[in-house]
Amino acid sequence: MSIVVDRIRKTYGAQVALDDVTFTVNSGEIVGFIGPNGAGKSTMMKIICALLFPDSGSVRVNGCDSATGSLKIKKKLGYLPENNPLYTDMYVEEYLRHVAAIYLPGRTQGNRVREIMGITGLFPEKNKKIGALSKGYRQRVGLAQAIIHEPEVLILDEPTSGLDPNQIIDIRNLISDLGNEKTVILSTHIMQEVEAICKRVIIINKGKIIANDLAENIGSYGISSSHTIVVEFSQDPDHKMFDNIRGVEQVKNLKPGTWLIQTSGDTDIRAGLFNLAVKHELVILSLHRKERKLEDVFRELTLSNDTSIN
Ligand code: ADP
Ligand code: MG
Repeated sequence: MSIVVDRIRKTYGAQVALDDVTFTVNSGEIVGFIGPNGAGKSTMMKIICALLFPDSGSVRVNGCDSATGSLKIKKKLGYLPENNPLYTDMYVEEYLRHVAAIYLPGRTQGNRVREIMGITGLFPEKNKKIGALSKGYRQRVGLAQAIIHEPEVLILDEPTSGLDPNQIIDIRNLISDLGNEKTVILSTHIMQEVEAICKRVIIINKGKIIANDLAENIGSYGISSSHTIVVEFSQDPDHKMFDNIRGVEQVKNLKPGTWLIQTSGDTDIRAGLFNLAVKHELVILSLHRKERKLEDVFRELTLSNDTSIN
């Protein structure tokens, strides 16, 4: 079940929230949709869910256009809104039966509600009021309502925001499991989450898509293509020694024996460094190249991209 977003523009009065947004999510992908606050993530997600209409552009979910087939799209989609609004005075099972009655009229809802409580781990809490649940369990209720009608696409708006580290991992695992058989778009501020579960990463800033690639390729985005090497010697070398290695841009002594070396472009200086150490009769105790993390790329792209439309 694919999602094709084509040249979406959305304004709120004078405020441009989305500006010419185009991307495709392929069937079965888990996509991380990331961007700073106010970038337009929630607006885009609501438009995909046909809950909000764009000024121009189109969204097609499995070929179905949201402008003409919004009900059809809603049946195929599960949506967990930001801040997960729930009826806090309802009991867990009661609430899920209520949702099932809306989404699955005429079906034996009890079975599906039991099934869904099993999938989301809600059985132990089923007789509690939603308002009395921990935030992690409330997110499970949110996910349960989103998947009750067995949608093929899941749109999850910051599903792990505000959870403690254990709850984050529980919910992340649940999303990862659900992602085995669904197409998922997930917005989050947690970069490790994207690295852990997303196949593709889309970065949005000030209403524009600024990166869209497979997670494994995203490290090469951004303005700086430099790499960082941290090397630990048994004794400090004369720092002039580094001048003889091609590609070295900057050298910094972190602590006795340990040096941080910034290199330009794709030059890998590790072999050169090793040879030079041998020549100078120095022992290398450790040597590692720091990979550029999604977090570095995110900061670089979103802080440098100054095409403000706000
Ligand atoms: P994100 O989810 O990435 O934080 P949003 O989609 O919520 O971003 O918001 C994008 C921009 O649109 C922001 O500048 C926000 O203030 C504005 N915005 C969002 N919803 C509304 C609304 N209902 N009315 C007016 N402005 C809005
Ligand atoms: Mg948002």
